[in-house]
Amino acid sequence: MSGFQCIFILFIVSLLFGCIIGAYYGTIEYRIRNDLPLITVSCSCPACHHTLPGWQQIPILGWLLLKGRCHFCSQPIPIRYPLIECGFIIYYGCTFLFFRHHPAIFLLLWYLFICFILIYRAKRHYRSLAKGILIMSLYHFVISLLYICLYAALEI
Ligand SMILES: [Zn+2]
Repeated sequence: MSGFQCIFILFIVSLLFGCIIGAYYGTIEYRIRNDLPLITVSCSCPACHHTLPGWQQIPILGWLLLKGRCHFCSQPIPIRYPLIECGFIIYYGCTFLFFRHHPAIFLLLWYLFICFILIYRAKRHYRSLAKGILIMSLYHFVISLLYICLYAALEI
């Protein structure tokens, strides 16, 4: 596989990771700010408490398919969720492109980004914030491990 193909694959994976972490971030931040349990088995609509099926939880696409409204109660779903996901995708993609030969740097930048905005957005809820940072750190750790394995497999 050529160097360009490897970089392209890693770029797509970076966008995917940004999307996944962005979706988790949106949920965790909402739960911290509203003093809700951070770990639950399933996601539900905050208005009607109906459990959301898997396809409605797909980042960005779920919001678009639902046209920004809950499928069950028609309450609007804030546009901030797809915007957060887009923000993460753009940030992850850009940092990868700038530091593509130094995975330790962009993995660190990804982690600092999560911590910084979580602390900034939920600083008044310090008890849940510590738990939220721990959960996001675990997600980031898993993603970093996957990323390093992929990086090694592609032998860049
Ligand atoms: Zn609803």
